Amino acid sequence: MQQYLKQDIQFLPGVGPKRAELLRDELKIQTFEDLITYYPYKYIDRSRFYKISEITADLPYIQIKGIIKGYRAIGKGRGQRLVADFTDGEGHLELVWFRGARWIPETYPLEREYVVFGKPTLYNRRINIIHPEIDDPSKQQILKSKLQPVYSTTEKLKDNYLTSKAISKLMSNVIRKLPAKFEETLPSWLIQKLNLLNLDTALRQIHFPDSPIQYQKAEFRLKFEELFYIQLHILQGKEINSRSFRGNVFEKVGDYFNTFFRKNLPFELTGAQKRVMKEIRRDTGSGRQMNRLLQGDVGSGKTLVALMSVLIAADNGFQSCIMAPTEILANQHYRSISAFLEGLGLDVELLTGSTKKSDRDRIHENLRNGSLRILIGTHALIEDVVQFNNLGLVIIDEQHRFGVAQRARLWKKADILPHVLVMTATPIPRTLAMTLYGDLDVSVIDELPPGRKPIITRHTYDSKRLEVFGFLTKEIARGRQVYIVYPLIQESEKMDYKDLEDGYVSITRAFPPPQYAVSVVHGRMKPEEKEISMRHFIAGRTHIMVATTVIEVGVDVPNASIMVIESAERFGLSQLHQLRGRVGRGADQSYCILMTGYKISEEGKKRIETMVRTNDGFEIAEEDLRLRGPGTIEGTQQSGVPFNLKIAHLGRDGQILQLARDIAEKIIEEDPELKLEKNHLFARHVKRGDPNRLNWGSIS
Ligand code: ADP
Ligand code: MG
Repeated sequence: MQQYLKQDIQFLPGVGPKRAELLRDELKIQTFEDLITYYPYKYIDRSRFYKISEITADLPYIQIKGIIKGYRAIGKGRGQRLVADFTDGEGHLELVWFRGARWIPETYPLEREYVVFGKPTLYNRRINIIHPEIDDPSKQQILKSKLQPVYSTTEKLKDNYLTSKAISKLMSNVIRKLPAKFEETLPSWLIQKLNLLNLDTALRQIHFPDSPIQYQKAEFRLKFEELFYIQLHILQGKEINSRSFRGNVFEKVGDYFNTFFRKNLPFELTGAQKRVMKEIRRDTGSGRQMNRLLQGDVGSGKTLVALMSVLIAADNGFQSCIMAPTEILANQHYRSISAFLEGLGLDVELLTGSTKKSDRDRIHENLRNGSLRILIGTHALIEDVVQFNNLGLVIIDEQHRFGVAQRARLWKKADILPHVLVMTATPIPRTLAMTLYGDLDVSVIDELPPGRKPIITRHTYDSKRLEVFGFLTKEIARGRQVYIVYPLIQESEKMDYKDLEDGYVSITRAFPPPQYAVSVVHGRMKPEEKEISMRHFIAGRTHIMVATTVIEVGVDVPNASIMVIESAERFGLSQLHQLRGRVGRGADQSYCILMTGYKISEEGKKRIETMVRTNDGFEIAEEDLRLRGPGTIEGTQQSGVPFNLKIAHLGRDGQILQLARDIAEKIIEEDPELKLEKNHLFARHVKRGDPNRLNWGSIS
């Protein structure tokens, strides 16, 4: 069986060297086994014919019976297309080809009955089907299964006649000749418990389903298995780590915390903040090292949670450090934390790249002798010269800017690993967090402090820019400040995106000095120049900040209440959300204005609609995952996790993932090393869940 599965795809009847090369280059299919695990992405129910009159553009692949009344070629040269007038006797629609103009009319003569299928789309307000598949109705009858699997292919493959149908044919070739059944990869107790199909049946049914129920069961089995082994792998790794890494014990809550809580805390904690503090208390008191990810939208009060954790560390005699990705942010934390600590008798210092030598020496000394308990800073914190006396807690703000390797350097700064709290304002959908950060425990602040006015978000076309400027003028007159953000610095050749330099000129024209002052920050400026420009804005000396996305993370200017985003369709959802989070921090009503031209892609439109509809970061993150898939979600690129899931979809299969997680948890709890006889298949296959080996090939 193994031998059969490992065979080179070129030896499969119907393939040969040329197609083998295409399959390898386009779909990474090299062996029989790779082909078998190339699953359909959807099925078409051939059980009914649609009437043209009932067709809308949001239908999936459908089939229609009718005749072609005529062909015509439209356009010239490369843009040329062939259009057929297709009718079912009542309605008409267009079939469109961008290639094949010569052979299609010959292959499909007029006035004969065909079954056409494809995806209806809307073009020039008319329904058409681009590159339809066309069948003889008589052939239709002999299709054994009404359900037809659809495999994704590429243009290049289609050009070489490797259509979905052709792949299905190859699939039948490979599966018919199988010398044996597929060996089971899940133990029978689990298969029975969840009422799963066995692997052999699942693999056959996924490609050649007998009924919709069968393919759904097959899909469930294969998705479950894929997600289950990932979870099993993550949880086993986590269990092993937590047993080997002891943690400092923060036994008590003492004077620092209590005094702060009674005297310095000017408001009630939100329910979410209280819950997260309990989780942190439990972790840090357990004797194991805490590794916790704290997610919360901008302004949800994460910094306060960080501060209270630092106080508990101090109460137990430990040092803490808080690491921010930029100097501006480190400064900001330093200012707000110093203010909160007033009168507690606890020193805080700031260490960044621009800390003076004399200050630096003093800080190093006080860290070593233990008199300095709290250090806030940037990457400067992880330089080797920085030695702590007893570092007990590391807090990392906005983790996406810190690589895993940088974090690892901090770990080494103590004999017993310090507790780690990673804070992020980029909400990560639960399913993704479970997979990507499955080894971290996750806390969520899903509640904003009371009294916040939700930001009003509007979509405005570029042609209304003057009205927008009018609105800005009024708000500035009321003492507010404005951000205007551009996606690019330099005009990109053919695309007509507003570029920052152009924008700056038109803004200074609309808001001329001396009445108005405008700051600029973009990626090409030197860090010191950026810093100065930011400071002017923070101090309220400038009214408008024209910027590229460098202001995205964390900057807090409560008086800035308007965010204008130019060419908003160019930004990803999470980026838009981050940008919007820069406003809405003060008591005033804040606004986010998304500017676009009239031409926007479908996806761009969806992103903008989502932004206008909701302020909820988690909802936005989920939508982002649905629209883009997990590979492109912010943060995943740097994580080093290659997300080439074969069948499961993190955006849609959350329930299966949760089930897989729950079951994997129970198994690991009972048998962390997977030594029990009933778990021996897990032991054999757990490595499949390793992201570095996630090509999921082996079905042995
Ligand atoms: P984040 O770090 O999550 O973006 P911050 O901790 O900076 O949020 O909090 C944003 C603002 O809300 C700060 O001015 C902070 O003092 C305030 N804040 C935090 N928690 C509360 C609360 N429970 N009630 C009222 N205001 C709060
Ligand atoms: Mg913050």
